[in-house]
Amino acid sequence: MSQSLYPRRAVLKGALTGLAAIPVVALIGEAQAATKVDPTGAQAKALGYVADSSKIDAAATPSYKAGSKCVSCVQWQGKPTDAEAGCMIFAGNLVAANGWCKVYAKKA
Ligand code: SF4
Repeated sequence: MSQSLYPRRAVLKGALTGLAAIPVVALIGEAQAATKVDPTGAQAKALGYVADSSKIDAAATPSYKAGSKCVSCVQWQGKPTDAEAGCMIFAGNLVAANGWCKVYAKKA
């Protein structure tokens, strides 16, 4: 009787391991599906998103403060070393670390 428990435990353990891996696989799939924000898209244009903040004409963009960029924004979802990452404003897309938009708010 106790011998029949081992296969059942093995099956249960395998099933639990498989279930635990599902969220990881889902996250990886989501990250791969994310695309860069298209600066010519309607939302990006409305928010003045640019992928390279060093090219912003500060005189023509009063809301831009020198040195502001996505990597230091409270909406940035990546690590400080990431070249691009998710942004809460452009959900499902990637923004550039050196990017910027009018919603910029410096991280505390
Ligand atoms: S909200 Fe912040 S992180 Fe997102 S695009 Fe604008 S400046 Fe970059």
